[in-house]
Amino acid sequence: MKFMFDSSLDWIQYTSVNVSEACAKENKLGETNVIVVGAGIVGLSVAYEALIAGANVVVVDRDPTGNKASFGNAGGIAVTEVIPASVPGVWKKVPLWMMDPLGPLALRIVHLPMLLPWLWSFARAGTDSEVRRISKALADINRRVYDDLVPLFKEVGLAGDLLRRGALTVYESENGLRNDKHEWDAKRALGVDVQELTAAQIREMEPALSPIVKNGIFTPQWSHIKDPKRVVDVLRDWVVANGGEIVRGQVDRVAPISDGAKIVLNGGREITARKIVIAAGAWSGSIARQLGDRVLIESERGYNTTIASPGVALEREVIFADRKFVATTLSVGLRIGGAAEFGGLEAAPNYARSKALVKLAKHYFPGLREEGGVEWSGHRPTTPDSLPVISRSGPSANIIYAFGHGHLGLTQGPTTGKIVGDLLLGRKPPIDLAPFSIARFSHKK
Ligand SMILES: Cc1cc2nc3c(=O)[nH]c(=O)nc-3n(C[C@H](O)[C@H](O)[C@H](O)COP(=O)(O)OP(=O)(O)OC[C@H]3O[C@@H](n4cnc5c(N)ncnc54)[C@H](O)[C@@H]3O)c2cc1C
Repeated sequence: MKFMFDSSLDWIQYTSVNVSEACAKENKLGETNVIVVGAGIVGLSVAYEALIAGANVVVVDRDPTGNKASFGNAGGIAVTEVIPASVPGVWKKVPLWMMDPLGPLALRIVHLPMLLPWLWSFARAGTDSEVRRISKALADINRRVYDDLVPLFKEVGLAGDLLRRGALTVYESENGLRNDKHEWDAKRALGVDVQELTAAQIREMEPALSPIVKNGIFTPQWSHIKDPKRVVDVLRDWVVANGGEIVRGQVDRVAPISDGAKIVLNGGREITARKIVIAAGAWSGSIARQLGDRVLIESERGYNTTIASPGVALEREVIFADRKFVATTLSVGLRIGGAAEFGGLEAAPNYARSKALVKLAKHYFPGLREEGGVEWSGHRPTTPDSLPVISRSGPSANIIYAFGHGHLGLTQGPTTGKIVGDLLLGRKPPIDLAPFSIARFSHKK
């Protein structure tokens, strides 16, 4: 059997599963069919796992090769990021961050009424006990990242794209590092390798940095990839080459049916399947809510500029802790990025932020040439507790959520795919999924 589908959908090609030999050995799902909504890193990682498990897989995306968060991010495999955004005292820093209209944090005032429930939940996530609970959950998922990402990269032909060179977090003053000490200690306690460096050691590792850098931290477990766009392009090609189908379409509605679920596309066409996975990034909230699940997820828009010939090269990703931005040398150039703008999914981008980031970078890289920079922005799918939603939906065990990865979607994509694969197969996932449940948004504390 292939797809149960509306007979008017003759534009959907019937496909037979043709996974590579190595994958076929693990075939467990047989002919169960799976629809994945969203062709970003998360949806494609889910499709990969479902194909390996032997499912017939269709990935539906209104713009499958488009320019969403997964295509233009900073390329960091940021496994050491195990502390949530909401921590005690974070509110004290907000006015300073927001004073500069092009600073690290921005809020579009017209969006504030919609944002209030999210902000309230964000505030409640920032207590000591909540931060401990959330950090443990983040460490649990991040600890698995290389176990899942490395085999996926190898299978699809991306093994050479992963550069395991660690990352440097740099500070302009003793105070900066001292103020973050508790966070570094908390990371250490969760198994993160944290190595303090002097200015001289930093410049030896990254000679392009100016003497303005006074000290820093080396985190060897971090890595980066050559180009996020290439990762999704190669993964998408692998999905198609191995029997998956990529369908262009806007999913307007998802609904349970007996023994499965269906999607309704813009224009009214329906496709049914045994299982549906919602991996629609920052757009997933409206689908979950339409199904009857409560969820808090916002677009946290980020910006960057990629300079093909910057005159500056970095060996590893550099995080500028005082100014809250990062720089990564990718195969496509030096990418300078950051910013967190809460303005909803419909607001027009403000590329003055991309320009402001380059200005900041010049401060640290005296040799930076900024000509020919390509500006970009993307919607991080961000929950108030910094945890993704990896969960069966409330109304139907056949509808599975895989969204809300915020700053860590590239990092956690393959592991999310693995976990969703387990949920599709009815296998016990490798980590406790309670902290990632959609039900957490309905529990009143
Ligand atoms: C500036 C910036 C830097 C970042 N840096 C890093 C980093 O260094 N490391 C890291 O791990 N993460 C990073 N991230 C975060 C990461 O990029 C995201 O968490 C991740 O890409 C989210 O992937 P996704 O597949 O969930 O969503 P997306 O990539 O947004 O994909 C969702 C897809 O769903 C489709 N879709 C949505 N709704 C519908 C619908 N109704 N019907 C059909 N299709 C639909 C969209 O067209 C889209 O293709 C960064 C993000 C930004 C913005």
